[in-house]
Amino acid sequence: MFDLLKRYTKDGWWAALLGPVFTILEVAVDAFIPLVMSSIIDKGIYEFGGDMNYIWRRGTLMILLAVLGAVFGSLSGLFSSIASTGFIRNIREAMFSKIQEFSFENIEKYPVPTIVTRMTTDMRMLRMAYVSIVRMLIRAPFNLILSAYFVFTLNPSLAKVFAFVLPILGFGLVFIFMKAHPLFRKMMVKFDALDSDLQENIEGIRVVKTFVREDHENKKFDDASKAVMDAQRRAESIVILNRPFFELVMYACMIIIAWLGGRDVIGGTMTTGNFMAYISYIRGILFALLMISNVFLQIVMAQASVDRANEILYEEPRITDKDCDPDLEVKDGSIEFRNVSFKYSDDAEKDALSDIDLSIGSGEVIGILGPTGSSKSTLVQLIPRLYDVSEGEVLVGGHNVKEYKLDKLRDAVAMVLQKNTLFSGTIEENMKWGDPNASHEQIVEACKYAQADDFIQLMPEKYETELGQGGVNVSGGQKQRLCIARALLKHPKIIILDDSTSAVDTDTDHRIQLALKEKLGGMTTIIIAQRVASVKEADRIIIMNDGMIQDIGKHDELLKRNDVYRDLYHTQMEGALE
Ligand code: ADP
Ligand code: MG
Repeated sequence: MFDLLKRYTKDGWWAALLGPVFTILEVAVDAFIPLVMSSIIDKGIYEFGGDMNYIWRRGTLMILLAVLGAVFGSLSGLFSSIASTGFIRNIREAMFSKIQEFSFENIEKYPVPTIVTRMTTDMRMLRMAYVSIVRMLIRAPFNLILSAYFVFTLNPSLAKVFAFVLPILGFGLVFIFMKAHPLFRKMMVKFDALDSDLQENIEGIRVVKTFVREDHENKKFDDASKAVMDAQRRAESIVILNRPFFELVMYACMIIIAWLGGRDVIGGTMTTGNFMAYISYIRGILFALLMISNVFLQIVMAQASVDRANEILYEEPRITDKDCDPDLEVKDGSIEFRNVSFKYSDDAEKDALSDIDLSIGSGEVIGILGPTGSSKSTLVQLIPRLYDVSEGEVLVGGHNVKEYKLDKLRDAVAMVLQKNTLFSGTIEENMKWGDPNASHEQIVEACKYAQADDFIQLMPEKYETELGQGGVNVSGGQKQRLCIARALLKHPKIIILDDSTSAVDTDTDHRIQLALKEKLGGMTTIIIAQRVASVKEADRIIIMNDGMIQDIGKHDELLKRNDVYRDLYHTQMEGALE
């Protein structure tokens, strides 16, 4: 936790410093109040026989000190609030930019809900802990030292009581820490699960409705939410023991002191005023101890969240371009796979791709067919380095993909993902993801190639039409065409369409293929498709099966020699004729 504090308080350091400074002032001022009170009793009442003048003056001093203490207290609260909000902001921003560096593999390790929880709920825990640390961790020990000093100067023999009290308290604290820490860690995991359920349900709300699964979903959410409640209760039931335990020890201590101190007063070795001040300081000490234990618990509670934030902050991006040549440009659209094998994770039993050898010339149009799960998407994801190969190498433009800066490589290789998304904003804004400097004319041109211009023109606000989050207000086929246009705007050397026209009607699909082939010649094009018609015109067609290339050739060749291809072709042609 303190390591995190050190790293992320940079720009709020003045507030982080002023908070404790005012806390110290507040404590110092407060510490004098019992002394003043003691002088009112001992001097004002007993020694000077009820000197009202003296009592008034001392009384005013006491009020002033109290007001000053309150002012310092508020200032310290204010500054620690400024510091804590700044601190949390810095951590959040650091986490966010770290996440931007994540590769697909990292993202699979930390799914969206856990990231959301870590950036919201965990940060809230952390902030609460921060505020109390700044306020209490300085205040309590300082208070403790001052009170202890006065206690020992006023009556050292009574102070022996602490020799018994302190070990008991220490033992109690350690016990609570050992019990509570793992419970808080578990609690945050339950929060992850809750957020995960929530997100899945809301994102899939349309599917939930069509399958009338509301009751099932309600039950699932109830379970998750109950699990959070239970975990929270279990964790907090340990923590709340802290206060009664402390109060028990504290009052026992007070009773012993009152008893022993009372004898001293009666015996005349201690004045009444001193005795009262003494009791105040003893209370001060015990209260300080209580606060220290509270801070301690806050740290325990926050530690689980700190760990979770650190996991993100220290996560190594699996794909980096740290040691590559910064000036290397992708010179053409040639692609080569040499002996490539690939697994999604080290402990996966089966290779998703095995022994792939493939050479694609710059400007070639390649079609890929194969049943679902035959690793078509996996194959093409290696080209823009969304994943790294497990064995062998992938070359683009004659160089291993690992030699390029990631942005250079991915600017040259545009990929329309199978699961693609648009972002909230207008159509035009979405298109600018492809090229931030694209003119309106260029955008329209790209949309014409992707056969998107026609339907955009029919929309009331044309290119200014707002897309909902994820592009919910366009149809599946329209979304696919917009995604293709967005990719075209990058003017890539290689364009990969991963099943990107599956929701587009055959006729429009055909027109997209023609536009790509005729108007954008020179660009290497890879088209993954379900329909033979979508790849029929390609220079070569790859047939994938079970992570391997089963055959590769032109339409006519495959039709002659490949049974699978021929069957597929005929079934689809018959389907089209009916
Ligand atoms: P296709 O695109 O041909 O339908 P994919 O390339 O998507 O097939 O998937 C190939 C295999 O890899 C499947 O068995 C699938 O379960 C697995 N797979 C795909 N994506 C992942 C992933 N992110 N993590 C682990 N396994 C995956
Ligand atoms: Mg796929």
